[in-house]
Amino acid sequence: MPNQEDFVTLQPAYLWDCPECGREVFERGCIPEMSAEEMAELREEFGIEVADQGDFVTMPDEVTCPHCGASFSTEHYGQTRPTN
Ligand SMILES: [Zn+2]
Repeated sequence: MPNQEDFVTLQPAYLWDCPECGREVFERGCIPEMSAEEMAELREEFGIEVADQGDFVTMPDEVTCPHCGASFSTEHYGQTRPTN
């Protein structure tokens, strides 16, 4: 059983594979700071019950690979890219 000091705080994160160097990269999710009123508005907009606790997390629009330095725009998994 770990000691109290052995605990770490897990944060929501995104995972992507760098197309340039092929490495796996973890990207922190952005947790916007919101007032209780703003949080209540968002809950209502998305139909989230107050009992469903948790943070709203947004993904970064752009990421840079810490290994090779290549930058990319992002899309959410399951999201279809617009075709031009
Ligand atoms: Zn890379």
